[in-house]
Order: sequence, then structure tokens, then C-alpha cells
Amino acid sequence: MSETEELRRSDRTDERNDLVNVNGLKTYYESGGILGSQPVKAVDGVDFDIERGETLGLVGESGCGKTTLGRTLVRLERATDGEVLFDGEDITTFSGKRLKKWRRDAQIVFQDPESSLNDRMTVGEIIQEPLDVHDWPDLDVDVVGTQKEVTVSGDGHLNEDEREADITVEVPGGAISVRDGVPLPQDRVSVDVSESDSSVTVTLSVDVSRSKLRRARVRELLTTVGLRREHYFRYPHQFSGGQRQRIGIARALALEPEFVVLDEPVSALDVSVQAKILNLLEELQEEFGLTYLFIAHDLSVVRHICDRVAVMYLGHIMEIGESDELFQNPKNPYTRALLSAIPDPDPTDDKRRITLRGTPPSPRDPPKGCPFTTRCPVKIRPSEYDHLDEETWEGIELLREILRERSRADRSFTEMARGVLGMETRFSGIDEIVREVFPHRLDPEREQALERAIEAADGGREDEAREILGQHFDPEETDADFDDLVDAFISDVHAGSHEQARSRVRDRFGEMDVPPEVRSDVETAIDHVRSGDEDTAREYLRDQFGSVCDAESPQHHVVSDTGRTSYCHRHRAEHEEPEVVFESLVD
Ligand code: SF4
Repeated sequence: MSETEELRRSDRTDERNDLVNVNGLKTYYESGGILGSQPVKAVDGVDFDIERGETLGLVGESGCGKTTLGRTLVRLERATDGEVLFDGEDITTFSGKRLKKWRRDAQIVFQDPESSLNDRMTVGEIIQEPLDVHDWPDLDVDVVGTQKEVTVSGDGHLNEDEREADITVEVPGGAISVRDGVPLPQDRVSVDVSESDSSVTVTLSVDVSRSKLRRARVRELLTTVGLRREHYFRYPHQFSGGQRQRIGIARALALEPEFVVLDEPVSALDVSVQAKILNLLEELQEEFGLTYLFIAHDLSVVRHICDRVAVMYLGHIMEIGESDELFQNPKNPYTRALLSAIPDPDPTDDKRRITLRGTPPSPRDPPKGCPFTTRCPVKIRPSEYDHLDEETWEGIELLREILRERSRADRSFTEMARGVLGMETRFSGIDEIVREVFPHRLDPEREQALERAIEAADGGREDEAREILGQHFDPEETDADFDDLVDAFISDVHAGSHEQARSRVRDRFGEMDVPPEVRSDVETAIDHVRSGDEDTAREYLRDQFGSVCDAESPQHHVVSDTGRTSYCHRHRAEHEEPEVVFESLVD
């Protein structure tokens, strides 16, 4: 058992220069539906920080909430709860002018360059639009060289935001300097300084119109992202996918943001173009000191570009830490499963792919406890079932998952309406499910008959095989067509699939083969389903076989010296670490 400890976030943040701190963030969508359905919990309480100038990757399967999280950080979605501190200020509380002002600092680049640009606008208009909306440039003025009270009038205004000023005026003398980011020739600015005993008044007049400055800025941005100045008057459809994404990036950079959410910025592009855009993003980050949240499902891209990675599942962050070590040695069971799906270029590497059962639960009805509990291959068992064989335990988990899926489907309007109207709902098929989920066995005499039938069919004596099966198995015992069953049995034997032939007969005529200590509980649950009470069946199974993973939300535990954290009960001292259990599964 490794030495882990619960994360003390405050210890960690002290050493960092964070631009963004996210605390307990939730984004729920009210369904707006009828019959009291639950909200969709797209982001369900996440905490993380992003250091100034770093790239944090956000990965996970589609539907895990990563895009909603990115959109919430730039206020394209409203947070339901929690806070997003940007330079220490909670932007979820911003409104009006404050919000508008902040929107300059945080931008987003969208996934699909085909649809994210308005085809009726020229490239110049598209990039210039945010400049127009925000009345760029501000012409913020810093006045240095005086302790007196300062007033700025004319075309500029006093810089009050502690941001880098567009124009700096040095008093006395009125010498000026213009910031690089503003395409304003110094000789087009005139300054008049008047000084009294207690104050200084700086009057600024600029001999260039704002629209001209904006056009110059757009041309400069085109060059910055590797396009040409003459592209200004062209339309998006005249460009390739990679060039269109460059336009999207130029637009996002127009207002000189500090923080950019890159929402799958290269996944719609050809592989050869992806590399160029990724290089461009890295260069821009270096040049302008940008901080990125890089959302992606392509894990190899994330590994290439991100300093740290957060792995998301069902609205939660399962693991977060430095990219290299997280990729080399994933600690969380979900991260491990996700990374096992990356194709390995080294054919000699015997990396085992972890196949997860089922699909992620609906964010409208997430599991209690750990979000990964319905699919986790190393879920903690209650101690009294530690000895149970893997096949039986997997069968019980599968039965629980199937009942859960059915309950979710049951909430469809049609099913609810059928129930309300007293019509028969589709609570059938439990026998079929049980046959699928649990192994079945025959009594010894029938097992022997089965082997004789296989031998006969294998020796080309099909009639004899049919006769043996007919003597020992009563067609009345099964709801399947007996002749079809025997035909399929013989085909299996001819195809060399003897085990499949055995299962075919055992499943139809045998008894569920589960150890005595769990048999009556499983049967009780099945009886509840037969009598149409799946809710009780589900609860019964949870009470009997549920563990801490079903009952309690995990905490983030520090799992490496660099402060990586993983959201899993298995990092607590009383449990085995996930990797130990994974190893035992391979054995
Ligand atoms: S807490 Fe850990 S072991 Fe339990 S279900 Fe979640 S990921 Fe798996």
C-alpha cells in the first residue's frame, strides 16, 4: 500500500502562481421536462487550479462534461454552484460592465473550424468583430514620474486596471511610449501636460481613427497566426480547415486574452495539419504568455502539448497531475482504462487493453458514491465477498448494471405513460438476462448425456446426437424451440465450438451456478424483477452487495511527489491500491 494522504489543496496552491482556481464548480442543466425529471449534472463539483502560463489538458470520453466545464470557465455557461477565481476574483459573480471587461481576458477556440466562422463575413470582419464589440483599443494611459494626482483627458483614460497600459506618458516633458500590442505610430499621438502644485493633467489626442487601428490590428493578427495580410478580404469558405482554425485562433487572440480554452482545436483537422496548429499554439503561448485549458479526446495530442492533465468522468475529475508521469503510471482505475485504449506503436509491448462493461451512466441519474462504480474493474467488494470467484462477482455486478440501465430506460415518457395507463410494461426477459449473466450447470447425469451427444455429433452421427438430447432434455422445460436448439448445438460441434454447444444446452436446461452463500440473495432479487418490482430488486442488490464505492463519494488523494491526485477509495490505507488489483486480475 503506498503512502497516500488526503489532498490539502491550500498547501499546494501556496507554491504556485495560479491564474485560475476552480472550487466546487457545478454546472447543471435543468431538463425543462415533465414528470419531475432530474437536472443533468454535466459538471458535478470539480476543484483544480491552472498555473499562469501552463497548459492544462482536460480529457475524457464524449459526454463526460469536459466541454461544459470549458464553457463554464469562460462564462458561456452559467455555473450552478462553486467559484471560478480568475486572478483571485470570482468571475461567476460578474455581470454588466465587469463581465464584459473580463470577457477580454478569457477566450475560447472552438472545435469545428467549418461551422464556427460566419461564412457571410470576410476574414477581416470576423477577426475584427470582438474589437468592435469591446471598443478596442481602450487607450489606457499610465502617467509616470510624478507623485501628484493625475487626470487624463482627450482620447485616453487613466489606466486603473493594473494591466499593461497602451500608452505611457512620462512627466515632466510629456515623452510618450506606445505599447507593442497597439498598432499606433508614436508620431500620431500628441500629448499636452499641464501641472499645478498638487495635480497633473495629461491631454491626449490621437491622429488615427479607431477603425483604422482595428484594421491594422487584424492585419497584424493574420501575420501572427501564419496567414497573409491580403487574406483580410477573403471569405472563410476560400480556406482549408487548418487555415480556418488559424482564423479562429486569430479571433480569439484579438483582445489579448490571458486565458484561452481550446475546445478540441485540432480534432477536425488532418493529422498533417494538426501538428502545424499545435506548433502555432505553442509559439503563441510562448510569445504572449498565454494560459491554456486544452480539451481533447485524443490522448496522444494531450501528452504532446500539455504540462498537466485532468481526466474527467461523469462530471468529476478522476485524476490530475503532470502529463508524463500520469501517462506513464496512471493511478486512478478510470485513467488506467482510458490510457489502455491508446494504440501502442510498439508491437512488442504487451500492454493489456481494459474493456469496460456497459456505457457511462446518464449525468441525469449518476450513481451514488463513486461516479465510476458501475463500470470499475477494480471496484472494492464488501469484505464478506472477497473470496467469491471473479465470474460470480462479475455476474452480480452485471445484473446490477442491467437493472440500472433498465430503470433509466423506464423513465422514458412512453414507459411512464404505459405504467400510468395500467398497460403492461416490458418487465420481461429476466430469465434471458440471468442466462447471460450467470453460468448454469446440469445435474451429473445430464452432463454425461451432453458429452455423449457432443461425441456423436463430432463423429458425424447427428441422428444419435438428436436422440440422446431428446431422451434427456424435455422440450417443455424451455421456452426455446427445441429443434432449433438441437440444430444450433450440432452446428456448434461441427464448427469445433464445443464449449458454446455445452453452454447452449446448460443455459436452457441447467440451474444457475452460483455459490450457496449468494444464491438466495440473487434469487430474491430475480423474484422481485419477475413480480415487476425492479426498484426493490435494485435496492436489494445494493444492500446485499454494495460497497463503499456505491455508498460514499471518494476524496482526492495525493499519489505522487509532484502532487498528482486521484479520486478513488482504493488509495485509503485499508484497501489495496488499484494497480495491485489490476495485476491480480491479469494473473
Ligand atoms: S472508488 Fe476507486 S475502486 Fe471504487 S469504483 Fe471508484 S474508481 Fe473504482
